[in-house]
Amino acid sequence: MSIEFVDLKRQYLSIKDEIDEAIAGVIDESAYILGDRVAAFEEAFAAYCGAKHVIGVANGTDGLRLALIACGVAPGDEVITVPNSFIATAEPIAELGAIIRFIDVRPDTMLMDVDQLAGAITEKTKAIVPVHLYGQMCEMDRIMELAEAHDLVVIEDACQAHGARLGDRRAGAIGDAAAFSFYPGKNLGAYGDGGCVTTNSDAVAAIVRLMRDHGRKGKYEHEVLAFNSRLDGLQAAILSVKLKHLDDWNVGRRANAARYAEALADVAAAGDIVLPVVRDDAEPVWHLYVAQVTKDVPAVAGRRARNMRDELRNALATEDIATGIHYPVPLHVQPAVTALDLGYGAGDFPVTEAAAERIVSLPHYAELTEDDISQVADAVREFLARPEEV
Ligand SMILES: *Cc1c(COP(=O)(O)O)cnc(C)c1O
Repeated sequence: MSIEFVDLKRQYLSIKDEIDEAIAGVIDESAYILGDRVAAFEEAFAAYCGAKHVIGVANGTDGLRLALIACGVAPGDEVITVPNSFIATAEPIAELGAIIRFIDVRPDTMLMDVDQLAGAITEKTKAIVPVHLYGQMCEMDRIMELAEAHDLVVIEDACQAHGARLGDRRAGAIGDAAAFSFYPGKNLGAYGDGGCVTTNSDAVAAIVRLMRDHGRKGKYEHEVLAFNSRLDGLQAAILSVKLKHLDDWNVGRRANAARYAEALADVAAAGDIVLPVVRDDAEPVWHLYVAQVTKDVPAVAGRRARNMRDELRNALATEDIATGIHYPVPLHVQPAVTALDLGYGAGDFPVTEAAAERIVSLPHYAELTEDDISQVADAVREFLARPEEV
């Protein structure tokens, strides 16, 4: 049986009646842009995250952009983030004329290496953007402490971390602001684009609210030049239905991660693959299940040793098992970023660069059954147990 990388249809079928009713309700009211449905979702998601304000926007990238602006990041300011992320972490920083400053990630969690943070702070640093990648939160206590000591703002990229926890605090409730994406494949996904900003600051919330909607104070009264970045009623109604299921889905993802860990324990012990590492203080929501293939084809006369990640992916593909790489090209060597002339090049962030060669994301979502997980794990184990072809 084939196993998709994400299967949004399976999830829809499990909540079809609720979703269909919500969609029909919005069409009946014909309230398509912002409105009561958006306000209701904002309130529900704020309560869920434990944040004072949630402002719905058009997508997660806009969420980051509006959060950066509202937190006072201006042209020429330096913003520290990591190269192991999706391009949308970097895009809005550069777009508003601020300067991206990368630090590397840790080899175990592949999240921001906070040990490198102090050394990256300069007179010009204004903000830190930790990325809670794969659904696990960064070491926020240490990040917030450094930010406070240096008077910096912290904007969480929580686009993969809906519901993730550090103790009793959730993603989106710790930094000065956070951005979430409701892209369909995210843990909480809309049926189109969507996103939001969360914040405990009344001032930040007011700016985001103003700037998502043409800087509008009255219908035709525009306070500042801004954007059209609104969440629509249909998406908000869908998100409100799905929010009620989010914790259950995250529990399902956690259970599937535990099944992978158990089924792959022997190949991990043999040193052929490194399974995802969770810090003791973190409770991730497993947006992605990212393992690192450590098995190499040994070097022979005239040929270098090479990692078997791509061979593993091909082997799984022949069994109709889809996999992904998050992400194959680190941000500092993306053409869009090298064009900014930040002075970075290959070799600057060895942990991220090494990971990019080895990481593989296995199919991973709440609706996968125990049998599905076994099928994937068996295929991985079979491949890694084969003697290397030289
Ligand atoms: C998805 C994602 C974004 C951007 O979200 P969009 O809604 O697609 O704009 C930003 N950062 C990370 C880490 C993401 O995974």
